[in-house]
Amino acid sequence: MQNITVLGTGVLGSQIAFQAAYHGKSVLAYDLNDQILSKLASRWDYLKPLYLRDLPDATPEKLSAAVRRIRLTSDLAVALKEADLVVEAVPEVLEIKRAIWAKVGTLAPPKTVFATNSSTLLPGSIADATDRPEKFLALHFANEVWRQNTAEVMGHPGTDPQCLEAVAAFAEEIGMVAIRLKKEQPGYIVNSLLIPMLAEAAKLYVRDVADTATIDLTWRQSTGAPLGPFEIYDIIGMETPYQFNSRSQDPELKRFADILKRDFIDQGRLGRSVGKGFYDYG
Ligand code: NAD
Repeated sequence: MQNITVLGTGVLGSQIAFQAAYHGKSVLAYDLNDQILSKLASRWDYLKPLYLRDLPDATPEKLSAAVRRIRLTSDLAVALKEADLVVEAVPEVLEIKRAIWAKVGTLAPPKTVFATNSSTLLPGSIADATDRPEKFLALHFANEVWRQNTAEVMGHPGTDPQCLEAVAAFAEEIGMVAIRLKKEQPGYIVNSLLIPMLAEAAKLYVRDVADTATIDLTWRQSTGAPLGPFEIYDIIGMETPYQFNSRSQDPELKRFADILKRDFIDQGRLGRSVGKGFYDYG
């Protein structure tokens, strides 16, 4: 898979496009209009120093070459003309995803394999919007793809196993550790493990069983994990956990959402990206 089309050039789409290009793929990045696409120059400027910081083999020349391998277009037909693989990273809204995949199905050549980067929607809920459900699956990256480099590869019951393997091989070619799931699982593996752990930590805090530093220390010391749950909240940032928990049916998690809003979001303690959250960062 050499010609890669990325649909949606926001937080994750821009990282996926850059990571594929960095590893030598030809990338076409598609978004709704040229004004949105023009923001990509500043995204590349944001990503380059992070690659230099985190990847021992990164050089300014390699990073400039990666940018040159990315073409931008707001014309979907142009975006798809030569695609071996389409990776979709448009907003996490089922109707938006189904609508774009329906269009992609009519425009892409028969060879093209389709992958969604959705975090919470199952590929089985989107596949029948395309003209080729057997070539449709999920390829789930984590934020900071060059560093947190897992790519979860998950089909729906109708996915051709050969497509799944081809996409896993592609993921490995672009520097990812490919995680092959045997069946559809909401939250894949990573969020199936992480979200319950973070929720239980939140409940310990709401019940005032221990303070956050003690809960984190316990987790790190007793499991050998590098970070405790509240250090992880600081990396994720408060906004997503707030949205997620405020919709919960669990009164303790709703109370946690209220605390996140009152004591953290409204105080500008948004997490590590702004230097303060549950902890202060220098
Ligand atoms: P984002 O809002 O940063 O970017 C979405 C992009 O899609 C925007 O550039 C927007 O202009 C574009 N877009 C909107 N409608 C479109 C359409 N019809 N066609 C083409 N482009 C369109 O969102 P994000 O955080 O990058 O998330 C995108 C996907 O990646 C979601 O499915 C999300 O679940 C998944 N994801 C996000 C993260 C994360 O940490 N942000 C991690 C893993 C997976």
